Amino acid sequence: MMGTYGNLVNELVIPAREARAFEVKRGQIFRIHQITGGQVGDCVFYNADDYREMFHVGQTWAINGILGTGTSKSFPHFYSKPPRENLMLTVVADTVRNHWGNMGGRCSRRLYALRDNLTEHRSCQENLTEALAPYGLTGDDVFDIFNVFMNVELHPDGRFTILPTQVKPDDYMDLRAEMNILAAVSACPADTSPTNNGKSNPLGIKIYQP
Ligand SMILES: [Zn+2]
Repeated sequence: MMGTYGNLVNELVIPAREARAFEVKRGQIFRIHQITGGQVGDCVFYNADDYREMFHVGQTWAINGILGTGTSKSFPHFYSKPPRENLMLTVVADTVRNHWGNMGGRCSRRLYALRDNLTEHRSCQENLTEALAPYGLTGDDVFDIFNVFMNVELHPDGRFTILPTQVKPDDYMDLRAEMNILAAVSACPADTSPTNNGKSNPLGIKIYQP
């Protein structure tokens, strides 16, 4: 079911190992989609009218869990961080329903140095910082991440294992903006872990005006 929602008003390709920022008006629907398959995205979301209000992964997991609407891998309602806790986004379609929606982490220079002894590797933290710079935001503003398409097994003892993402070339997730949104999505450059099956690929964005 490749749904569409009226007029396509914008589309962009996020090159492999890079990030892009884009704005979505309240009521518009944006799609994060695969191009080659096998690619995870690291996403941040802000209230486009007040960047102090931003997506909070912990409260989102908590509220969806308490209300019985979702799990750490799939939930329909994305909330902003306390004290606001407003509904920011609603999932209207999702062909995957297996994401990593309870951590808020991302790959970073520090992480590649600690884990892989690499000092020059691009990272989602760095990518998102670059993409958001034109909006006056800095690395300190890159707060909680939604790890779209990321396949992680959470073990009963609290450990987790990163597994290869299962996404196919025609997979996508559609989200309706419940406020004016500034979004940034990084095509995760991870190639030293199973995250992207060892290779970074592009991602696509489409924005619809219903
Ligand atoms: Zn990453």
